[in-house]
Amino acid sequence: MPPDCLRIRTPWVGFHVLKDADGLYLLDGGFIGGVGRLKATLARQHWQNERIRGIILTHGHLDHILNVAAIARETGAWIAAPRQDAAHYAGRAEYRGWSRVAGLLEGVGKPLLGFEPFTPDRWIGDGDRLDLWKGLRAVHLPGHTDGHTGYLCEDLGLLFCGDLFASYRRFSHAPPGILNSSPELMRLSMIRAQSLDLNGVLPNHGDEASPAEHLGRLRNLSH
Ligand SMILES: [Zn+2]
Repeated sequence: MPPDCLRIRTPWVGFHVLKDADGLYLLDGGFIGGVGRLKATLARQHWQNERIRGIILTHGHLDHILNVAAIARETGAWIAAPRQDAAHYAGRAEYRGWSRVAGLLEGVGKPLLGFEPFTPDRWIGDGDRLDLWKGLRAVHLPGHTDGHTGYLCEDLGLLFCGDLFASYRRFSHAPPGILNSSPELMRLSMIRAQSLDLNGVLPNHGDEASPAEHLGRLRNLSH
C-alpha cells in the first residue's frame, strides 16, 4: 500500500483516501458508519487537519455515495463522478433485468438511511485525467453500472477498481448478478482492466490483502 493512500474499512464496503500536497482526496464516500470511520482513521494517521479537497466516485451505488453530499457540505470538497450514473446521484436511477432487485433494495434503503441527492461538479468520462496525487486516469469499466469507472495511477501501476470484483481470499467473486446493470459487459471490463500495465488493484469490497494479491485474485477469477 502506498504510504499516502489509506483504506477506510467498514464491514460492508471500504473506500480510499489519497494524500496530496494540498490536502486529501476521497475515492468514494462509504456507507453506514463510513464518516465516523473516516474521521477515526484520519486522526490515527494524524491527517485530521488536512482539508478534504475532492471526492471522486467509481459509480452510483448507495454503498459508495450515501455520505457524499454530507461530506461535501461539511468540507467544501468538489465531487467528480462518471456521467452515465447521473441518475443515481440524483436519486432517480432505473434498474433493468435482475438488477431491479438492487433497485428495490436501494428504494427501501435511501429514505431509511437519509440519502441526500447531489449534483457532481465535474463529470468523468473514459480517459479523463485527474491532476491530483500522482495523477489518475479514468478507465471506464461498465457492467456493474453503466458508468462504473476505475482510476489508474500509471506511476504505480495501481488501479482503484471499484466493484469490478470482490476480493476475499478464497471467496473472491464477481459482483452478484442482481447488482449488475449490464452483466454481459462485466467480463469485457475484467479483461480490459487486466490489459492495463498493472502491479496491483484496490477493490472497494475486499480484505486487507496487498494490491498485488488482489490483482492475483482478479486474474484467477478471470480464468
Ligand atoms: Zn456497486
